Order: sequence, then structure tokens, then C-alpha cells
Amino acid sequence: MGIFVKYHNHRPMGQKSSSSFKLGIMSGGQLGKMLTQAASIWDVQVYAMDPSAEAPIVGLCHEFFQGDQNNFDDVYNFGKKVDLLTFEIEHINIAALRKLKEEGLTIYPDPETLATIKDKGLQKEFYKKNQIPTSDFEIYSNLKEVQNAIVNGNITYPFVQKLRTDGYDGRGVAVVLNEGAMNRLMDAPCIVEDAVDIDKELAVIVARNPSGELKCFPLVEMEFNAANMVDELICPAEVPHSIAKKAEEIALKVAKDFNLVGILAVELFLTKSGEILVNEAAPRTHNSGHYTIEACITSQYEQQLRAIFDWPLGDTTLRTPTVMLNLLGEENHTGAVVYEGLEEVLKLSGVKPHIYGKSITKPFRKMGHITILGDTIEDAKEKAKIVKNTLKVKA
Ligand code: ADP
Repeated sequence: MGIFVKYHNHRPMGQKSSSSFKLGIMSGGQLGKMLTQAASIWDVQVYAMDPSAEAPIVGLCHEFFQGDQNNFDDVYNFGKKVDLLTFEIEHINIAALRKLKEEGLTIYPDPETLATIKDKGLQKEFYKKNQIPTSDFEIYSNLKEVQNAIVNGNITYPFVQKLRTDGYDGRGVAVVLNEGAMNRLMDAPCIVEDAVDIDKELAVIVARNPSGELKCFPLVEMEFNAANMVDELICPAEVPHSIAKKAEEIALKVAKDFNLVGILAVELFLTKSGEILVNEAAPRTHNSGHYTIEACITSQYEQQLRAIFDWPLGDTTLRTPTVMLNLLGEENHTGAVVYEGLEEVLKLSGVKPHIYGKSITKPFRKMGHITILGDTIEDAKEKAKIVKNTLKVKA
């Protein structure tokens, strides 16, 4: 029988690469997996924590800890094992992060940035205070207050109700166009904001390091499906140069105002009257930045490492027009996953499927994504059509 030795036991101290330095990632979904892949290029040790022993990061990271990121003790104890903590998810116990920071752990992005963003009420107030364009809003404590405001005429149709915390991928968002949609309203602390006449949904990913260096990735355009998940992402966004420039300026301002260290994904609305409004931001790598792995000189994951290590930020130039598709579980399929048509799409030049490693598929579950590089955006869109019709996630 062979003898297994963990090679990192003998690693030297004092630098991030090939040393005893431990980067902690909370938690271990696909974003954490892709961050670990980027870290392995520089031989950085990754420790990860996730509630599931079958999380996509398992098998790639150096040490895995099973734990709940909403549980104080699990987050605190994990934080005590690492030299720098970053995250790929917003639902984390903030009290544990604050205590770890108080005790000297470096956490990027800062727990206070996360605390503001986690709460859509605080997030919107932050935009208002910093004169960042966003739709008008009011904060309410419960359904009764919202109903009263409707009766009093303080809320008028159409409007959008959003839960202050715990929403994601469109869950916790009710677009209420008229009285007929009142049954969609939720009973919890929430914001109610003006419904925006959306022309396009756009996103910009920004990185900033502790030295203050700031860079953004190219503007992308997102089309959503019925389940409110990105169906198709197009880069560069098909908007006039002046719009792209304005969107990037706004996103950079948001990151600067947060004093961000790390990655910030800024989701924007281009309105039918040509205005740009910030919808929301996420202080982490983002679905709208997956395309950067193959399409940009630096990926969003490499950029996150550069930012949190205070290394020079990488070149974000787009190499080629790109479409990104999410690989979602087919409707009516739940169970052990089968990727139908994978070998077919691998025959196509510039088509790069990523499989996250979730053993069970469910309707609309994010199982992977496909980056599609084109000579032109039309070329990428043509290939995307073929991929959509060929590659299916079934059980
Ligand atoms: P989540 O945090 O779950 O992603 P979002 O705030 O991004 O929630 O909202 C989900 C979707 O709802 C958006 O992508 C957009 O299509 C729609 N939406 C959100 N806010 C508004 C708004 N003020 N006006 C019109 N549509 C909106």
C-alpha cells in the first residue's frame, strides 16, 4: 500500500503561492469551484466550507469543511483556519464575519459591504445617499403596510416588491403590473420600487484592490427566461458606445463608493428613454462574468485573486465577441443528471461547455454554462442556437 503525504504540510511561509498561506472560500458552489481553478494556476492553497459534502468545490480544494454558512460557529471556526477569507455567496452569518475581522482576519470584500448589499433596503439607501441612479423606492415592514400604502395612493401600479433579505435568482421579487397581480405580494420586510420601463438588462463586473486600482470588464447584455435566470448573455452589449461608457462609469463609481476590495457585479437597467439605473450589485464573482474565462485576457476569478491579494489587476480586454448560455436543468426532469448532446457541441469550434459537478438535476437548476466564441457576434449567436437545440440536461 502506498503512503499518502499532504504536500502542503511542508510548504514555506511568507508568500501566497507555493506556501503555507491559506485562502478561505465561503462556500463551494460553481463560483467557488472556478475561483479554486484560478488559484491552482498560482499554486495557492484553498480551504473551503459548504453545507454539502458533494459541493462542486470538493475534490479541487486542499481542505474541505462541511458547515452551514448561516451558522455563527461554523463560519467562525472556519475563519480561524485561514489567512484570508473571501466568499462566493451573500447568505453568510455577518456577526461571525465581524468577530473574525475584529480578531484580525482579513476578509475581502469587507463584511460591512456585504451587510449593506445583503439587505436590499440598505443597498438602495446607499445608492440614494451616494447619488447613484436607481429607481425610486420606499421601505415597508410587512404586507399590511404595503396594502395600506396602495389604498392611500402612496404606491401606484405598476410597481415591484422585493424582500429585503434572502431573495436570489428572482425569488423574493414580485413585479406587480396591476391590481390583478396583488396575490403575488409577499408578507415580510421589503422595498417597493417603481417598475422600470426596461429596454435592456446590462451588467458590468468591477474589480478593486486595497491599493485603489480599479478596473472593469466589458459591458454585457442579459436576456432572462421565464424562471428569471439568464437565458443568453451577449458581450459586448449591443448598445451605443456612449451608453456603454456611461454604464461603466456608474459601475466604477458604485465600487469606489463601497470602498470595495474584490469583485463587484453591478446589474443595470437601460430604460426605454435611454437612462441607466442600477438595479442591484453583488460583492462577488457573478454568472454574468463566466464568459471572461475564455473571452477576456483575465477571467473574473483570476481578477478576484489579484484584487484580494493586492496584486496588479489584470487586463480585461475582450478577445472576441461572445455569447454565454446557462446550462439549466430541463423542465420535468429531476434526478441523476445526464448531459445529452455534449459530444455533439464539442465538435463546434469556440464552444466551451463547463459542467459544475452537481449529481442531481432539477428544473432550472444551474448545472453548468457554455461560453461560445465567435468571429462576429452573429457567428456566436448562430452557434448558440445550435447549442441550445442540441445540449440538454436531463435525468
Ligand atoms: P434578484 O436579486 O433575485 O436577481 P432582481 O432585483 O435582479 O432580483 O430582480 C429580478 C428581475 O426582476 C430583474 O432581472 C428584472 O427583470 C425584474 N425587475 C427587478 N426590478 C425591477 C424594476 N424596478 N422594474 C421592472 N422590472 C424589475
